[in-house]
Amino acid sequence: MSATHESRAALVVIELDGTEFCDINWRVMGAIARLREFGALNVDLLLAGWKCGSAVDIAAAIPGVRQVLVVDDERCEFQLAEVFVPWLAAFVDGYSYVLIGATTFGKNLLPGVAALVDSQPVTDVIAIEAHNVFARACYAGRVVERVANLQPIQLLSIRGTAFAAITQRSSSIPAPITRLTPPATQEHSRVVQQERVASERPELTSARVVVSGGRGMQSRENFQLLYRLADKLSAAVGASRAAVDAGFATNDMQVGQTGKAVAPELYIAVGLSGAVQHLAGMRDAKVVVAINNDPDAAIFQVADYGLVADLFEAVPELIGHL
Ligand SMILES: Cc1cc2nc3c(=O)[nH]c(=O)nc-3n(C[C@H](O)[C@H](O)[C@H](O)COP(=O)(O)OP(=O)(O)OC[C@H]3O[C@@H](n4cnc5c(N)ncnc54)[C@H](O)[C@@H]3O)c2cc1C
Repeated sequence: MSATHESRAALVVIELDGTEFCDINWRVMGAIARLREFGALNVDLLLAGWKCGSAVDIAAAIPGVRQVLVVDDERCEFQLAEVFVPWLAAFVDGYSYVLIGATTFGKNLLPGVAALVDSQPVTDVIAIEAHNVFARACYAGRVVERVANLQPIQLLSIRGTAFAAITQRSSSIPAPITRLTPPATQEHSRVVQQERVASERPELTSARVVVSGGRGMQSRENFQLLYRLADKLSAAVGASRAAVDAGFATNDMQVGQTGKAVAPELYIAVGLSGAVQHLAGMRDAKVVVAINNDPDAAIFQVADYGLVADLFEAVPELIGHL
């Protein structure tokens, strides 16, 4: 189907965290709101999981949704790309747009779908400038590329930090729900174990304050200092890749090009040099504070407030004042 203005329809692939509706979906709906500024759009949501009834209710209540396509089946508990990609690819025909968050979930699925439907995806979209013109960050965020996408199906992954979440989240008339046949089972891959990190702290990608540590923290034990600071500020804790590789912090804490993108109001970078690959993940932070004992550290070039100091003196002092 060609992307004519009369026939435009969008499919949003909803991300779940276990059985829960993820925050990223609100931001993808923010991108949908932006697309609507360029013409009428029929919007369907696709939601696949297991025991995800409450997420289905949330999805169905989103204003302006034509229908929610649902598969609630044990085989969908872990959305394995090997199972999901061929299944998803079968759905995209008939849609002018397919949108998914530029998260691990989206990055896992979209390229495979793109390969099967022979369409080049536009990944990590940070702005929508026309119905088929998108901006995306490349070269670790140093270059913003504008892409006029002339393909009939626009496969887009949306960088959540670049779009505001929709504020009106429920309408009084829920969208109709269409139940789908689950994807066929296959034997060549299965989930053996899933470990979930339970945390009382805010989620990194949606936190208003993030405290991040780098290799300068020197050890996993020293990261406790950052947790104490974060507790005072109700902040999430992030890390540089060097800190993750050294085992000071877990993988899910990594901020950057190959980690998570964050957009907090306040980002406190501690013992972190500010490599371009790290900056790529925090470029949307509103206010950046850096603590580093090297006055020439690159992080000071992007910091709004910089403290040249030994972090092992400065951070305890800061905690003491809060
Ligand atoms: C393809 C690719 C992808 C990458 N993706 C990412 C990514 O997603 N995220 C990421 O972070 N990196 C990423 N990197 C790695 C990146 O290039 C850097 O190596 C990394 O960010 C450096 O981490 P760091 O700043 O913690 O360590 P360092 O560069 O070692 O910096 C440590 C800093 O701590 C300071 N310091 C040391 N001791 C103290 C002290 N006592 N008090 C105060 N300051 C102190 C030092 O002055 C220094 O500035 C990627 C690299 C590549 C090639």
